[in-house]
Amino acid sequence: MTEILKGKPVVDSLNLHLKNRCDELRALGAAPTLAIIRVGENGDDIAYERGAAKCCEAAGVGVRKYHFETEVTQEEVVGLVRSINDDGSVHGVLILRPLPPHIDDRAVCRALAPEKDIDGITEYSMAGLYSDKRVGFAPCTAEACIDMLDHYGVGIEGKRAVVVGRSFVVGKPVAMMLLRRNATVSICHTKTKGLAQICREADILVVAAGRAKLIGGDHLGEGQVIVDVGINFDEEGNLCGDVDGAAADGRAVAITPVPGGIGRVTTAVLAKHVVEACQMSLTGKR
Ligand code: NAD
Repeated sequence: MTEILKGKPVVDSLNLHLKNRCDELRALGAAPTLAIIRVGENGDDIAYERGAAKCCEAAGVGVRKYHFETEVTQEEVVGLVRSINDDGSVHGVLILRPLPPHIDDRAVCRALAPEKDIDGITEYSMAGLYSDKRVGFAPCTAEACIDMLDHYGVGIEGKRAVVVGRSFVVGKPVAMMLLRRNATVSICHTKTKGLAQICREADILVVAAGRAKLIGGDHLGEGQVIVDVGINFDEEGNLCGDVDGAAADGRAVAITPVPGGIGRVTTAVLAKHVVEACQMSLTGKR
């Protein structure tokens, strides 16, 4: 039987821990607070903003929402980021991206104070991740994959891990985090030859390609743990992951569902990072 690694128990356990930490921080005079910056009316952004706010509130983290019309200038967005940098009552900033094409994404990311970069978008956070130093924060989705494995007691050390996808948001950072935990890691992408065979050899298969049901029976070996990060819609318009669940059923030891898997844990990790950033601002330690 294939175990379904649901996100909810991971979130519940994280939130319990975060609520206690938030109470302790409030007693010291600091209320962990997240600022969310959204530009325009993109439906995915609005849904993510709503989910992130709900999850933060459940964990005891305050949320301030900032919204611009699509026509906003880059200077105005950068100006807001800089003013939040100087606001000691905000500990983390989530910028919903991609931004409209007339705004230089990297310029906005560069404006963000590294200590408030709770989603790993600045070069400082990336340097921390790729140079194996404990500075900055990893992108929340990448860390959600690791937290999910840890919660369900899936050992990482010595395992053969295959990551499908090499974006800076998921593929590369999750590969680095698996490597840091002593897995032997392969990263696959659109130019990879023999994808199915490489995937079959994985003990842990993390798929973040954004292609509905890319991973089917040919890609799956026996006894694998599969982390499906993809969020897509199938032919019937239903939400689905990058892995064909029917092909995995009975073959994989365990798989994360879509919906109800990594997406849920991602927002809980966001709240965790805000609490850690708040703690850092008080004590210099996480
Ligand atoms: P991206 O488009 O930036 O990157 C996709 C990566 O997959 C690329 O590196 C590409 O080389 C690789 N890829 C694409 N098609 C492939 C193929 N046929 N064979 C091999 N490799 C292939 O996407 P992203 O931002 O990394 O997101 C990936 C998926 O994860 C998307 O479905 C996205 O919606 C989802 N996502 C989920 C969450 C969450 O919270 N659950 C967060 C971020 C992204």
